[in-house]
Amino acid sequence: MPFINILGHDRQKKQLAQAWTSKRLAHAYLFTGAEGIGKRLMATALARLIFCDQQSGCGTCAACQRLAHNNHPDLHIIEPDGAQIKIEQIRQLQTELSHPPLEAPRRICLIDEAEKLNPAAGNALLKTLEEPRADVVLILISAYPDKVMETIRSRCQKLPFSRLDQTLISTILTDQNINEGESRIIAALSEGSLKKALGSDREYYLQQRIEIFKTITALSSASIVPMLEFAEKLAANKEQHDDLIWILLSCYRDLFLLVHQASPALMTNIDMEHHLRKQAGKETHLSIQRKLTAILECRQHFLRNVNRQLALEVLLMRLTN
Ligand SMILES: [Zn+2]
Repeated sequence: MPFINILGHDRQKKQLAQAWTSKRLAHAYLFTGAEGIGKRLMATALARLIFCDQQSGCGTCAACQRLAHNNHPDLHIIEPDGAQIKIEQIRQLQTELSHPPLEAPRRICLIDEAEKLNPAAGNALLKTLEEPRADVVLILISAYPDKVMETIRSRCQKLPFSRLDQTLISTILTDQNINEGESRIIAALSEGSLKKALGSDREYYLQQRIEIFKTITALSSASIVPMLEFAEKLAANKEQHDDLIWILLSCYRDLFLLVHQASPALMTNIDMEHHLRKQAGKETHLSIQRKLTAILECRQHFLRNVNRQLALEVLLMRLTN
């Protein structure tokens, strides 16, 4: 995909393209922003722009093809080896960077999840940052820049990326032949992360969402056992708790809109409109507000590492009362 055609992040795209054409590209960047919003995509697209025979990132020339097949000799990608980026990886990189580029005008090195550089690797990398070569561009990528050594951060030009907006994610999903209704739901639930919107969680969102909402609204505060059982089931899927919170927030936000007689066009879960309307008939402005508060407080409890099953039991009681 030509550089100019990357969707979103227009300001960052313009800044990098201008820096390259006016020969003012920094020798080291730190791309920051939430996971899955396209930082690494932008870094590889910049490599394509710089390496491309047509100087556009055309996608069809020999250089672009080699990049697409991950075998361009002037692009180096460092990723954590297990939980850390280790000093051996940085030493090997430094050996390669000590030679001029083989084909392209620059060697480009992406260091993904830069917060995982261990102290020895970080200190080794510092040398490269302190004595930059004119034919090397380092791009460090991190969703947690506060965890990157300060001495490294201060030697990089920072380029923050924000979350993608829902309309854009929805457009991208529709381009990928996902139907418009689904696209809208996934876009709203993906928190601005394209990785999340396109990832395997997609099925979970669509299928589990209806089941979770139906189960919760069928629970009654008068019979405690099914409630405790459902809390236990939810507690067991710890890796899906973020998704669960987002699903609940989106459903109760929709209920909030319905209770306030807002336009259905603002709703997220348009395919569940029938269930949602039925439930909205049983709610008041105040009850919905309390339930939204309960969901947000449960999320806070998760962040504080309290007993998750207990937090979920309390949440379900508050959602059924
Ligand atoms: Zn090309």
